[in-house]
Amino acid sequence: MQNFIVNQWLPDEDSSINIKSDWFVKGLFLYEVVRTYNRLPFALKKHYDRLLRCAEYMGVEKALPGFDRLASLVMEGIEMNRTNSELRIRIVLAGQNLLLLYEELPVISKDIYELGVKVGISPFQRPSENIIPGKLKLIGAPWSFLSKTRLGECYDLLLLNEKGELCEGSFTNVFLVKEETLITPYEASGILPGITRENVLNLASALEMKVEIRKVMAWEAFVADEIFLTHTSAGIVPVRRLESKVLIEEFPDGYTRILMDNFEGYVMTREDNWKGI
Ligand code: PLP
Repeated sequence: MQNFIVNQWLPDEDSSINIKSDWFVKGLFLYEVVRTYNRLPFALKKHYDRLLRCAEYMGVEKALPGFDRLASLVMEGIEMNRTNSELRIRIVLAGQNLLLLYEELPVISKDIYELGVKVGISPFQRPSENIIPGKLKLIGAPWSFLSKTRLGECYDLLLLNEKGELCEGSFTNVFLVKEETLITPYEASGILPGITRENVLNLASALEMKVEIRKVMAWEAFVADEIFLTHTSAGIVPVRRLESKVLIEEFPDGYTRILMDNFEGYVMTREDNWKGI
């Protein structure tokens, strides 16, 4: 794969950086993960806007090129990296430098969608939204990093904040279904406003599902009828088991199944997912 590393395209084996560069030593890494559908970058403008908000918060927004420039670099990389599979592109703002890292989009096993995954509650706490806003997508955030080291058989671990509110996974957003209502934690609990989450919420409204975006206490997950996770690389991931609570006996059904069945068709045809492409 060819990657864009600080102003030049380099193959994987030469994609090196100067570890004495100021930005490496100071260690500020903001990032986004974009996937392609039909080799076009999905929701690139939404990812760009989220990265920009994050860069502004950290005071490094000047390092980010304008959207049109970024989109043309991303497309250039897609053209260069000819594979039969879809791509996953990491857009990293490393201090004042832009990196675009390309890889094949991992294929998600059918079992994950058909049988669901196991999740647990993370032993690490997500800092409160007033201390570290959820919109900050930082490489190496300790609560997220440490949760990933404890995954075991779990697909992801759910993080709580200091008030015992359910926030999100270490790389996913979380949804519950209870009595025909789709419920997801609000941003004030400290979550990354996920792009897949936003698409799922729009889809649910289009399907006239009842939706609640609100404070969700951790115990609510244990009495939920259904749970699923969302993230860019896999879309909607049904949860079979939360700790020792079994949610799915055979195949996910209910709202999770309806949303999964409609997700791809919906996101592909929503114009705001293809803005500027
Ligand atoms: N929450 C966290 C902490 C994440 O890191 C991610 C994705 O990396 C998500 C949620 C899901 O966001 P998206 O749907 O934009 O991929």
